[in-house]
Amino acid sequence: QWIYLNGQYVKKEDAKISVYDHGFLYGDGIFEGIRIYDGNIFRCREHLDRLYDSAKSIMLSIPLSLTQMEDALRETIRRNGLRDGYIRLIVSRGPGNLGLDPLRCPEAYVVIIVEQLAIYPEEAYRDGLRSVSVSPRRNLPDALNPKIKSLNYLNNILVKIQANLAGVGEAIMLNSQGYVAEGSSDNIFIIKRGVVFTPPCYIGALEGITRGAIIDLCAKLGIPLREEPFTLHDVYTADEVFFTGTAAEVIAVREVDGRIIGEGRAGPLTSRLLDEFRKIVTVEGVK
Ligand code: PMP
Repeated sequence: QWIYLNGQYVKKEDAKISVYDHGFLYGDGIFEGIRIYDGNIFRCREHLDRLYDSAKSIMLSIPLSLTQMEDALRETIRRNGLRDGYIRLIVSRGPGNLGLDPLRCPEAYVVIIVEQLAIYPEEAYRDGLRSVSVSPRRNLPDALNPKIKSLNYLNNILVKIQANLAGVGEAIMLNSQGYVAEGSSDNIFIIKRGVVFTPPCYIGALEGITRGAIIDLCAKLGIPLREEPFTLHDVYTADEVFFTGTAAEVIAVREVDGRIIGEGRAGPLTSRLLDEFRKIVTVEGVK
């Protein structure tokens, strides 16, 4: 396995970085998770736009142009010989001193890892996941800037720990006001009487690429969709609930906090959106 590390392609065992890296010391950096379908990088430009916007927002200068980054992604995929898989692209502040001042970090690190993807078993897409709501809240200032896909995932980790303790696949995170925000690493949607709802990003949801693809699909298919704040009550009483994410795609939820959602398996509209989503990932081609 070959890893892109600051302009070089190195073996996994040799892909090492400084312990002074501020990504390591402080979570100071940004990342992307991107999917490769049949050799194509799904919505590559959208992921890179989000990455460069995140970088701009935290005043991190990425030492590669957008096209150089795209070339590096393609070259890493080529060297690893993968047609289907997952790309993790990380840009961290780079090595500095022990203080947190980013001015002491002259050079950002860029790392690209391409791997096979461990995803949910196919039956999970039919049966749906069990889920619970958890106590950690979407943290500040990330909640105010949820569009920054930063390396600060401590809250998401705490959410995942609670999901693990509850024995469920993904959990539901609220914002500090108690509105439903998202999962530990997925966006959330609910469906009620044929209308699809997802929290607006300002509630504290990442502007997920898969979320965007589902919003586009609903528009294309004439399915009404509203970006609106909602609460756990709305989740419990929804006809259908699903999560979206690069790794998870569109995964139904059959139970939340002990309440059975709809028929207790993937609902018709969720299944349709999953089908339509899987169609676009294979036909969109190199972008
Ligand atoms: N929310 C969070 C917190 C995430 O980390 C992710 C990415 N895994 C998502 C939502 C989904 O975003 P995307 O569809 O771009 O993968």
